[in-house]
Amino acid sequence: MAPGGCIFKEVLESQSAVVDYDISATKSILKHPQSTKDAIVYNGKCGVSSTNGVHELLECPVCTGSMYPPIHQCPNGHTLCSSCKVRVQNRCPTCRFELGNIRCLALEKVAESLELPCRYQNLGCHDIFPYYSKLKHEQLCQFRPYNCPYAGSECSITGDIPTLVAHLKNDHKVDMHDGCTFNHRYVKSNPQEVENATWMLTVFNCFGRQFCLHFEAFHLGMAPVYMAFLRFMGDENDAKKFSYCLEVGGYGRKLTWQGVPRSIRDSHKKVRDSEDGLIIQRNLALFFSGGNRQELKLRVTGRIWKEQ
Ligand SMILES: [Zn+2]
Ligand SMILES: [Zn+2]
Ligand SMILES: [Zn+2]
Ligand SMILES: [Zn+2]
Repeated sequence: MAPGGCIFKEVLESQSAVVDYDISATKSILKHPQSTKDAIVYNGKCGVSSTNGVHELLECPVCTGSMYPPIHQCPNGHTLCSSCKVRVQNRCPTCRFELGNIRCLALEKVAESLELPCRYQNLGCHDIFPYYSKLKHEQLCQFRPYNCPYAGSECSITGDIPTLVAHLKNDHKVDMHDGCTFNHRYVKSNPQEVENATWMLTVFNCFGRQFCLHFEAFHLGMAPVYMAFLRFMGDENDAKKFSYCLEVGGYGRKLTWQGVPRSIRDSHKKVRDSEDGLIIQRNLALFFSGGNRQELKLRVTGRIWKEQ
């Protein structure tokens, strides 16, 4: 589906004023994105001061990724990782010698003896891991950066929540609203064009946390639908502490949805495809809009609350 830009007009009708976020803490992070990101600081727990040098030995000289068994070497002792080995057509990339099939068992053993901090140490993870389980941990580390939650674009920005909130506001021009209730009107002049990936994102700031309200049009099977759902800017365990409801209606009819916000660890598409939100068939949406069915005018109200 092609990202169709935002062609919804959104009319905010709630009374809450739009309050500027205090992103003073975030700004300093954004100003020096490299200063903390790449510096791996080994703390006292690690104990081996020469770890950094050994770690460099375990970096594949060809792809610069970390090497895991089987680690290979050429007859002259140049090492390379197993995925590079299959790509270099049996020639050592360093000395052009024929590679053969020589394992570097010593280096594999050294790797086994290493304990290294999580690569997200600078983001708050203070755990230390054996070399071979570090990668596995990092894929699930709760401190790993989040992807930008903005849907419909291939945005590659990652970061912690304050960084992403500032990024959504400054780079995607997303509307920010304070408060746990909302009353939005989505207006679209040509509702027949569901084919465009039309979407809308609003960020809510309540309970000191941030939530993304998505609204979009897509085809569910063959049926054109609109869908609204909430994602939580944080991890899944914290997301479960909240609930939300959404309502849309008109002319005496009403659809309601109650759900649990999904973490932004789950992609926008994953949540949408799991149908975990308020889904409005286009015909019903046009009925709710009134008039002559030429314009979509949906009023979506909602509330976020904290579960005990
Ligand atoms: Zn490699
Ligand atoms: Zn070589
Ligand atoms: Zn970690
Ligand atoms: Zn982005």
